[in-house]
Amino acid sequence: MIYKILTHPNKELRKKSQKVLVAEICTPEKQKFLINMSKTMITKDGIGLAAPQIGVLKRIITIAYKDKVLVLINPILTKKSWLKEVEEEGCLSVPGVYGLVKRHHKLFVTAYNEQGKKVEFEAKGLLARIIQHEVDHLDGVLFIDKVIKITQGVMPETQ
Ligand code: ZN
Repeated sequence: MIYKILTHPNKELRKKSQKVLVAEICTPEKQKFLINMSKTMITKDGIGLAAPQIGVLKRIITIAYKDKVLVLINPILTKKSWLKEVEEEGCLSVPGVYGLVKRHHKLFVTAYNEQGKKVEFEAKGLLARIIQHEVDHLDGVLFIDKVIKITQGVMPETQ
């Protein structure tokens, strides 16, 4: 099943998502959801997707990375580098708009994977950028809130 992606200015995109109970990750219902969420991201040509973008206010993100799908549940970002980088970003929830956003170059991620196992790793560059963009969604933040300069499309109203 492919979910419908909510687009700005849908109010759901501005809400804070709740943590997932780790014991629930392996339930058939959650497993099905994680598969469908991954399929939705791939079908829509996204390199990342956060559950609130499909109207589910849970702290779950999926990332397309090196031909694989990375599922991160309840992600926490620490050890954010002092060094930041400016690169272009877009978002499935803000179609047609691209812009430059400053993000930490490197950070440390703690999360649970789709098997309910705790994972910890360092991410840098593009992967770190995608993770920061998706975790922002979990807190109701969109890239257009942080954009330095629009490179394609028109800046939408953010209120
Ligand atoms: Zn996005």
